[in-house]
Amino acid sequence: MGSRTESVVTHAAAVDDDHLRLVVEASPSAMLLVDPSGRIVLANSEAEHSFGYTREELLALRVEDLVPQRFRQHHDVERQEYVAHPSRRGMGVGRELFGLRKDGTEMRVEIGLNPIVISGERFVLASVIDITERLRGQQAEKLAREGELRRSILDSIPFCVIVTDAAGRIVTANPAAESLLGYAQDELIGRWITEVDAVERARYADGTPALSPVGGDEAEWTYRHKDGRAVPVNEAIVALTVDDEPGFIVVAYDITHRIEARERVEHLATHDALTNLPNRSLLVRHLDHAFDSADSDRRQVALLLIDIDHFKRINDSLGHHIGDEMLVVVAERLLAWVREYDVVARLGGDEFVIVFDDLDPGVDLDKRIADLTRAVLAPMVVHGYELAVTASIGGALYPADGDDPAALLKHADIAMYQAKSAGRNGVRWFEHAMLDDNNDRLALSGALRQAIEQEELSLVYQPQVDLVSGQVVGVEALARWSSPLLGAVTPDRFIPVAEDGGMIVELGGWVLRAGCATLARMQRDLGRELRLAVNVSPHQLRSETWLAEIADAIATSGIEPWQLEVELTEGILIEDHGDVVAMLEALRELGVAIVLDDFGCGYSSLAYLTKFPIDKIKIDRSFVQDIADADTDAAIVDAIIVMAHALGMTVVAEGVETEVQERYLRERGCDEVQGYRYSPGVPARDVVTIARELTLTP
Ligand code: C2E
Ligand code: CA
Ligand code: CA
Repeated sequence: MGSRTESVVTHAAAVDDDHLRLVVEASPSAMLLVDPSGRIVLANSEAEHSFGYTREELLALRVEDLVPQRFRQHHDVERQEYVAHPSRRGMGVGRELFGLRKDGTEMRVEIGLNPIVISGERFVLASVIDITERLRGQQAEKLAREGELRRSILDSIPFCVIVTDAAGRIVTANPAAESLLGYAQDELIGRWITEVDAVERARYADGTPALSPVGGDEAEWTYRHKDGRAVPVNEAIVALTVDDEPGFIVVAYDITHRIEARERVEHLATHDALTNLPNRSLLVRHLDHAFDSADSDRRQVALLLIDIDHFKRINDSLGHHIGDEMLVVVAERLLAWVREYDVVARLGGDEFVIVFDDLDPGVDLDKRIADLTRAVLAPMVVHGYELAVTASIGGALYPADGDDPAALLKHADIAMYQAKSAGRNGVRWFEHAMLDDNNDRLALSGALRQAIEQEELSLVYQPQVDLVSGQVVGVEALARWSSPLLGAVTPDRFIPVAEDGGMIVELGGWVLRAGCATLARMQRDLGRELRLAVNVSPHQLRSETWLAEIADAIATSGIEPWQLEVELTEGILIEDHGDVVAMLEALRELGVAIVLDDFGCGYSSLAYLTKFPIDKIKIDRSFVQDIADADTDAAIVDAIIVMAHALGMTVVAEGVETEVQERYLRERGCDEVQGYRYSPGVPARDVVTIARELTLTP
């Protein structure tokens, strides 16, 4: 408010006073002289200019006409109050005052009032200052101060803040944005926000980025740092008017750590902790994917299920740390072998999966698998143990063998089982007939368990003939099972089932007791001693009661220990971990003979022969079969015989069917023969007859 100075003009004709008129006119602000009734009696040219009236018009108005309608009544009351008691209080003090122009527009004004007494009447000289411009300036200053404050907040907060115009062009960015994105502020300003996006942002029809937040105020997003790296962020976009311009404030912060943590959790949930290979759930996801793309390019997907043979044995006898280490080595080798886009997964235990998802129709899968097994299953040294590893592999093809991951996995598993049953260390591709086999297998397992309990099994004995004396000197006990339900089941089928089903120890114990008892009876009937060979499965060897069972069977039947021969296969020796040697030593201590069965197939490493206490080698029938026509087989047989003799072992040949084979073996110094040429496995009483009647003539 302007200052009020009491000035009294006592001249009666003051209103017409040129002096007053001149003073008023010279004032830089609008001046109005108002009479006691409120009429304007004098106005200067600045008043004309401010209110937009001519002087004549002004002089026809009351002062209230220059006040917006809503204040008029109040103004009138205040004015009369003021005129009565000018010194009591300032008119309009403490209120925002408005003037009304002729054109109806309002202006913010400041008023200074001077009471003037003219001819005994109280006039009021009012100076009116249009402060619109000043206020605008103040406002601008205030805004600028606020802007500065905003700026300093923006500069110090750790969030990336980017302001864009309505179209999405960057107007300003704070230092946190500079460091998050790697651009200087100058470089950012003027760019489209989409230029720092690493992913395509939704756009409106006119091509501008759709910045208005859709479905929630925060979202995960990815920016592209100047150096090219993707930066995951949490981004919030708020529509905002800045300096009268509509636009957006984009606030973002780096969530790399959050993403990494999430990825770690995700990784743990989808990978095997030991080998870091994808686990089943990730594999299934991959297969879904692979099936889709195979569908669109009409290719096949091959799934191989690789199961390490006898892994449990390694684990049990050498300890889990060796077993684990071995799995890690296998995993590493698998990864090294596969191509970049093949998938290797671990299903748990000793089962691995490889997926080839780009198979052209003509691809030679068998060759690829042969290559794989060569590379992955090469002997390995783990903590000083040399391990020879074999695996049984089951394969299944999409789409032929199953059209969803679960089915394909199951079918590969069934095929793998077939590979195991067929003697392990081999590959089988799924065939639909295997489904029946698989069901059969389950049925077989149940039936076998029952058969063992109810002693439905029987033994036949296959004579072994000494090539020097020409006499039957022993028999091999072979298990037979004639099921009332399933008919005759061959041992090649039921022995693996018994091994997998945990029944082999019981079955083997029975063979041992029944065989020894029968041997005692046979030789009593025959009147001379014979030897009995029993087949022993690896599981039995690891049974703690086994040695005691042998001693017991010998004692109970009354035979001599040397009459009992235990037939083992090389597999047991290959996986030797010290305890096998101890077991064999103990057997020998008992006086029982140890025979290495099926010699010639498998590893046939000569090292085993010197390392283990072996009494006798049985040449596998596959070599005997081809003696006459295949030079290499004959050479191998020669070598085995010479070597075995050199080591003080006897040699028996199995599967002898022809006279040619017999003659060859005799010429090479083979000690004993066994085969259909002499007799198949027969009941005990037939053995006695054969042993009485059969004599070979050299
Ligand atoms: P193996 O120990 O190699 O037994 C010899 C197999 O060859 C027997 O088959 C026998 O019948 C057959 N064989 C004998 N002479 C000839 C021949 O001249 N030509 C041909 N082609 N084959 C001949 P089988 O009885 O079917 O037994 C198969 C396998 O089952 C055995 O192979 C053995 O590994 C296993 N097995 C049999 N009985 C038992 C047992 O009581 N316990 C264990 N653990 N395994 C057994
Ligand atoms: Ca045998
Ligand atoms: Ca054999």
